[in-house]
Amino acid sequence: MKSRFAPSPTGDLHIGSIRTALFAWAWAKKHQGKFVLRIEDTDIERSTKSSINNILESMDWLGLEYEEGPFYQTNNFDRYKEIIKQLLNNDKAYYCQCSKERLQKLREDALKKGDKAKYDGHCKNKNLTTGVVRFKNPTQGLVVFNDEIKGEIIINNKELDDLIIARYDSTPTYNLTVVIDDHDMGIDYVIRGDDHINNTPRQINLYKALNWDLPKFAHLPMILGSDGKRLSKRHAVVGIMNYKQQGFLPEALLNYLARLGWSYGDKELFSINELIELFTLKNINKSPAIFDSTKLLWINQEHIKNSSIKNINKHLAWHLQQKNIIINDGPDINKVIQHLQQRSKTLVEMAEQSKMFYQDFDKFEENLANKHFKDKKMLQLLLSKLEKLNIWEADNIKIIIQDVCSELDIGFGKVGQPFRLALSGSGNAGNIDITAELVGKKRTLQRLKMAINF
Ligand code: GLU
Ligand code: ZN
Repeated sequence: MKSRFAPSPTGDLHIGSIRTALFAWAWAKKHQGKFVLRIEDTDIERSTKSSINNILESMDWLGLEYEEGPFYQTNNFDRYKEIIKQLLNNDKAYYCQCSKERLQKLREDALKKGDKAKYDGHCKNKNLTTGVVRFKNPTQGLVVFNDEIKGEIIINNKELDDLIIARYDSTPTYNLTVVIDDHDMGIDYVIRGDDHINNTPRQINLYKALNWDLPKFAHLPMILGSDGKRLSKRHAVVGIMNYKQQGFLPEALLNYLARLGWSYGDKELFSINELIELFTLKNINKSPAIFDSTKLLWINQEHIKNSSIKNINKHLAWHLQQKNIIINDGPDINKVIQHLQQRSKTLVEMAEQSKMFYQDFDKFEENLANKHFKDKKMLQLLLSKLEKLNIWEADNIKIIIQDVCSELDIGFGKVGQPFRLALSGSGNAGNIDITAELVGKKRTLQRLKMAINF
């Protein structure tokens, strides 16, 4: 079994495209099959190197590994030419020299009549030897296929016109190259967005003209924004690599994208292996899905909570680097992750909160400090007790806080809150004893002195 992902390298890889890639990938994995990456770069004017890099980088970050590729269609022009020649020789295609003006007029006339614009076969029997090449679409009969998601689809050939398969400069067009490559690469499942569903009957006619077996087709419903319009920059961040920057785990993004248009009962959280195991084309919804960034954030948080420390470490390292947080001078990062894992919605948040364990600061959050650093006597007492503590462990630190509370006859919050602010600078920290343990004795004492001097 083989499936493929065939993006055109024009702009950043869109979140909808990645969902397509994910479904094709999961379907191949489920069948112990192969997944192919094919870059459809024949539109030379719109294809860019940076977009290709963005595709490769996104696939890599998401862990969507391909067994074959990346293939580039621009490396395959000889093969496309060969097939165009074959179609011409077998009277399955012909040259057309209609002017732009003539085609424009056809369009306008059709529009006036409320018809769909169609080429009228003007050059079909002219035996021209140059021009664009058009495929001779059958003029009668039906194209019937069974879409794996949408069910049976029937199109009358009368609705289809003679498609251009090669441009004036003899470069091939999408509908031809996709058929040739899917055939040559032995693709069994063509899984793609339903914006291509109108192309499929045309492609099927090409397969038939070439006497090639048809793959199976699965057309995925679109992803929409909250206003019901096709998802775009107006609704959400659409470029995949932005999600890495914003601190999402790749498996959380994949989990979310899978649920966008696919379901398995009411289960929301899936590991990658579960996704592969439970995924079926049958369970893909027929109607479009609506993008919901709040849910994505929730899924990310759940994945962070349940992920192994090792895995988080792997992804967090990049964020620490972005923030110039050097982890040599401070506690074991694994302990920090363990401490922050249950309270971070994103890896950016986690990196931000890791800072206090590795970097000194010279200012406290002013308003909070004014409020919490009034009781100098308490801070002094806490400091002097902590100075004497030899085994710097959370349990012992906790006992000291309790001692301070009972000696001064005050509640835990009266010590805990100022202490938390002293340690973090911002008041934003988790469990206070563990925070202090991880900040370390030297830094804790320094910061308490700073609080006393505030
Ligand atoms: N290059 C096409 C696209 O990006 C591929 C469509 C297909 O999968 O056949 O939309
Ligand atoms: Zn013509």
